[in-house]
Amino acid sequence: MTVFGGYIFAKRCNRVANWPKRRVKIFHVRTNDSMTNAPGDNLSENLLKWYDLNKRRFPWRSFYPALSDPYHVVVSEMMLQQTTVTTVIPYFLRFIERFQTLEDLAKAKQESVYAQWQGLGYYRRARFLHSFAQIVMNKHQGQIPQDEHTLRSLPGMGPYTSKAVCAIAFNKPTIGLDGNIIRVLGRYFHIELSGQGIAKILPPLLSSVIFTTKRFCDLQQALMDLGSSLCTPRSPSCEACPLNKECLAFLHGAQADIPVKTIKKPIPHKYGVAFVMLNKVKDSVLLEFRENHSLLQNLWGFPTNAWSSEQSQEQMMSDLVPSLTRIEDLKLLPIAVTHTFTHFKLTLTVYQALCLHSFAVEAPYSWVPLDQLNKLALPTLMRKIQKAAGIHARDRSCDAPLRVDIF
Ligand code: SF4
Repeated sequence: MTVFGGYIFAKRCNRVANWPKRRVKIFHVRTNDSMTNAPGDNLSENLLKWYDLNKRRFPWRSFYPALSDPYHVVVSEMMLQQTTVTTVIPYFLRFIERFQTLEDLAKAKQESVYAQWQGLGYYRRARFLHSFAQIVMNKHQGQIPQDEHTLRSLPGMGPYTSKAVCAIAFNKPTIGLDGNIIRVLGRYFHIELSGQGIAKILPPLLSSVIFTTKRFCDLQQALMDLGSSLCTPRSPSCEACPLNKECLAFLHGAQADIPVKTIKKPIPHKYGVAFVMLNKVKDSVLLEFRENHSLLQNLWGFPTNAWSSEQSQEQMMSDLVPSLTRIEDLKLLPIAVTHTFTHFKLTLTVYQALCLHSFAVEAPYSWVPLDQLNKLALPTLMRKIQKAAGIHARDRSCDAPLRVDIF
């Protein structure tokens, strides 16, 4: 076997005018007597043969020629952003049982959507999914659009999701590029760039992959499955891979170097104060509806100040509790609560207080009975605060007694 190294092999070169030639190193492999097919030409066939034997079965998945229910595909794709398949499956099943159709979801109150989402995190996705359903019902006669451009204009639909929905639900000739697929194809074509760089280079190469099959829905899902089972970030199982005869990174022993790792910038750290006030008279706790906060918006939570990296604790407390005179036994809890959002890390000190005399509060605050606390869609950060404060509220409908560990 003769191996020629080069930057771009001629067959593709004309199609891609602006490749960063200094950095994109693609090798062309040929046998002694004749050129092999260009990379990509055999990918669909080999991958789909493997997929027919090894496909993962999920409640939202169908197999060609059957197509998955577009509503199920949208819900699963939204849930799978930032979350693993194993975590998503029970949530998906509960969600679909509660909102059986897109119309059911569109008609639901936001709070009940959040309640079904509780524990999955990233509640913005739930808000987007709800708006998506309402817009499709109101503007698209209840039919999820089949073209990528229209889908992309809807809430929660990014470049990946809109393509993936088109491919999986409508068998359109496109491939959504998520992290797994970028890694598989970056290695297959031997593109020595970061994930972001690979994603920019791939689209013109995909035509050779896509148009050798009619099973576009299966192709998308087969790439997903290969990326999560064999072509993993560390130690890919190349010996067992159906693409190993033509995967250029494997043929050059470079699979571990792709995608090129980028040095992550450290994320900022913010601090704040959370406030757990228990009302002994009402057997309730003070919660805030976070309508005016940019994060965890429109969710219930323990009152917190605006998180920052600068304010002093005294300033934060005075912002947070304008009516300290009504509070008794204000204590700083010995445990700080930490939580990592996508773009910053947060540490909250938690104050806990007991209110012996009942007083009315106005929106966005409300006294929430302790036996209702577990029914609310509290985000994970708020559940951490609840735990730090030792509040174990159980439904009174259960036989178990209400237990509140305070002071
Ligand atoms: S041969 Fe290895 S590197 Fe190439 S696609 Fe398969 S698992 Fe990934």
